[in-house]
Order: sequence, then structure tokens, then C-alpha cells
Amino acid sequence: MTFDYHEPRSLAEALALLDRYGDDAHLMAGGTATVLLMRQGLLRPGHVIGLRAIDDLRGITPTRDGGLRIGATATLRAVERSPEARMYSPALTDAFASVATVRIRNQAMVGGNLAHADPAQDPPPMLAALNATVSIRSSRGERSLPIDELAVDHFTTSLAHDEIITGVVLPPIEPGSRETYLKFLPKTADDYATVSVAATLRFAPDGTIAETRIVLGAVGPTPIRARRVEDALRGQPPSRVRDALELVPDEVDPIDDLRGSAAYKREMARVWTGRALARVTR
Ligand SMILES: Cc1cc2nc3c(=O)[nH]c(=O)nc-3n(C[C@H](O)[C@H](O)[C@H](O)COP(=O)(O)OP(=O)(O)OC[C@H]3O[C@@H](n4cnc5c(N)ncnc54)[C@H](O)[C@@H]3O)c2cc1C
Repeated sequence: MTFDYHEPRSLAEALALLDRYGDDAHLMAGGTATVLLMRQGLLRPGHVIGLRAIDDLRGITPTRDGGLRIGATATLRAVERSPEARMYSPALTDAFASVATVRIRNQAMVGGNLAHADPAQDPPPMLAALNATVSIRSSRGERSLPIDELAVDHFTTSLAHDEIITGVVLPPIEPGSRETYLKFLPKTADDYATVSVAATLRFAPDGTIAETRIVLGAVGPTPIRARRVEDALRGQPPSRVRDALELVPDEVDPIDDLRGSAAYKREMARVWTGRALARVTR
């Protein structure tokens, strides 16, 4: 494993390095995924660009409108421990606290987690249920992307090679909204999810469901938004949840693996979506 390691101190410097070395450059945040891939010989960059020294990528700060901005190099542990994140939504804290072990959470960073695009990761479904936007920079300019347009397949994103995630922006949460994150871990407590469910829900004044967002992890090539379930529940009383859950198995697209058969995961997706909705409609 031989490569040149660069640790730029500014975003401009990092972007210039990406432009200079093109496909031979690879970004590194916490390195938990990158180092494994390099050790396995699946990734052989000539230049590794470490992002941890760039001030502009740091921080977890409330936005003026009541939302939250999380910098790309905030560690998963920093988000888990952030009073601002907990104040924004305790379910956000739960999702970050669900990742593997403290050791991994101390190392892995938000931008690395999103760009790695493993569909079984914990933060992305919760961030999607909270309607997050990803901020992206390249030497060509700046753009924002709804988080559910970032991952496009297993371990694949819509990012161009010269783009850097600078952070994630969460909009203000509407008054009366409830949120939850549940992770089904039948094997060990530090495993990736067999199924995970992030849900947000807001009631209308008449007690019907005004809006819900349901995002499932580990049951498809990317986090999956259960849109048909959401549509079936909009304007309905919570007593309709049971019927709507029958739509879940057709929303997901799991694979057979060590954590269970596709059929088992479809059924678990239905069961755990029911548990998540029970928490937000209680
Ligand atoms: C044993 C183990 C168990 C784990 N279990 C879980 C789990 O249960 N749940 C969970 O959610 N995660 C889990 N993870 C962590 C997860 O799978 C990733 O390894 C981690 O989130 C990657 O973050 P990182 O900062 O280390 O990224 P890195 O390894 O540094 O980078 C990952 C990828 O992102 C790119 N990248 C990094 N930063 C940026 C940026 N700012 N802009 C654009 N691209 C960027 C890199 O080029 C690379 O392709 C686990 C990891 C390990 C090793």
C-alpha cells in the first residue's frame, strides 16, 4: 500500500488537489472504510487526501431558522454527544448512537458515512426521514442535494469525482412532529442493521396524520423511502396504520445474506415499521 498522503488545511487546497490528481486521488475522512478497502487491494489510489484538518468542514451548529448544520468531518460520536443535535431531535442522537461501537463512532465522520453509501448504515435513513440536504463543493461551484438523491446503488453515490461533501443541513422540525429510529439487531449489538426504520410523523389538529416520512435501511440497494405507506396514511387516523403496513414488503428490495433471507427481511421490515409507527402515533 504505497501512496502520497496530503492533509490540506483549506477546502480550496483540497479541491485543487482533487483537480490535480483526478482519478488517482481518493478522499479520506475517518478512514474506517477507506483503509479496509485499501488493505483488501480493492482501492489503490496514488494520492490520499485527508479532510480532518479543514476548519470549514467541522462543527454541529443550529441554523437561524431552527434547523441544524452538521459539518462533514463531525465524527459520528460528536453528533451522538452533541446537545444541539439532541435538542434538534433525540431520534437523530439515537441513530448516530446505534452505529457499531464507540471506537468506530469516534473515528468515522458524517461525510465519510454518507459517501460510503452502505445501505445498512444508520445515519442516512434518519437524515432522510428528517428531510436533510447534503451540501457539496467542487472547483466548479456549490450545490445542494436532497439526501435521498445521494446514494444511487450499493456503495455508489451520485457524487462526481471532484466533489466534496461539506455538510448536511436539516430543516426546522414542524411543531408537533415526532421522530423515531429503530434498528433490528438479532445477532450482536455492534452489528450492521438487519433492518432499520426511521420515521417522522405529524398529526393534524383533527387527529388525523398530516404527514409522515418513513425510510428503511438494509433492505435495498440504498435507504428506501416507503412512499406508498406514507401516501396511504396521509389524512387517515392512526387506526389505519395496520392496513398500511401490508404495503411495506412490496416497498423493499432486500437480498439474502448472513443476516437473513430476503423473505425474512421483508417480513421484518413490516414488523419494525409497525413498531416505529406505534412509537410516533402513541
Ligand atoms: C467494523 C465496522 C462496523 C461498522 N458498523 C456500522 C454500523 O452499524 N452502522 C453504520 O452506520 N456504520 C457502521 N460502520 C461505519 C461505516 O460503514 C463506514 O466505515 C464509515 O461511516 C465511513 O466513515 P469514515 O469517515 O471512516 O469514511 P472514510 O473511510 O474516510 O471514507 C469513506 C468513503 O467516503 C469518501 N469520503 C469521505 N469523506 C468525504 C467527503 N467529505 N466528501 C466526499 N466523499 C467523502 C471517501 O473517499 C471514501 O470513499 C462500521 C464500520 C466498521 C469498520
